[in-house]
Amino acid sequence: MRLFDTHAHLDFPQFDGDRSIIVSMMREKGVWAINVGVDLQSSVASLQLAQENPHIFGACGIHPHEAKSFNAETEAKLQELLKSGAVAVGECGLDFYRNLSPKDAQIVAFRAQLRLAKSLDLPVILHERAAWPEFLAILREEGPIRGVVHAFSGDYLRAQEALSLGLYLGIGGPVTYPKNEALRQALRKIPPTRILLETDCPYLPPQDFRGQRNDPLKVRYVAEKLAQIWGRPLEEVAEITFENACKLFGVKP
Ligand SMILES: [Zn+2]
Repeated sequence: MRLFDTHAHLDFPQFDGDRSIIVSMMREKGVWAINVGVDLQSSVASLQLAQENPHIFGACGIHPHEAKSFNAETEAKLQELLKSGAVAVGECGLDFYRNLSPKDAQIVAFRAQLRLAKSLDLPVILHERAAWPEFLAILREEGPIRGVVHAFSGDYLRAQEALSLGLYLGIGGPVTYPKNEALRQALRKIPPTRILLETDCPYLPPQDFRGQRNDPLKVRYVAEKLAQIWGRPLEEVAEITFENACKLFGVKP
């Protein structure tokens, strides 16, 4: 069985003690991953992880929290990184929940990265929190965009809005949390061909591991929950979502 974690942060310091062990366990268990950059430094680290490991791919982008540092120089460096083997732009988007960067700066950085993705014909890994109307409006204006709404946890209406733009939905540990019944209801009506699995590790561990560090091997628990929601065998869910990821990111299965 193969599984594809489409959103990991293996370069983060939480993995400094055992990164190589986790990476080799992933290879053993058939777990592939996209390592996602949040700033220039982690984008470089993502590409390096990808270069060293055939089952890891790199995405380069500036997270909305880091948007305050986004300028023409950042954009030029990001473009250079994206041209050296990245499979996606991201993560980028809007986060009006924590507002660690001013809204205006977030919007400028988001639009610039969507344009970079279009000019380089790359998919986008999208982050959205407490900014849905603005997020959708910008995607509509800058579109068409190929990409995934990472850590999607909305209801069916939001899912339909994202799907109508041609986007995939990234589903992770929160689908196992008791409070997310609306998300599980929505997933019953969404075609599996539009879903990607992810962990967002070291964050968002599945319910049984809350309070602990998450890692790409735990993507299996997300797949198990989806298998239960859809009433399909785990192996089938793993394979469909693996192929979805290969298709979006242009990776050979
Ligand atoms: Zn992330």
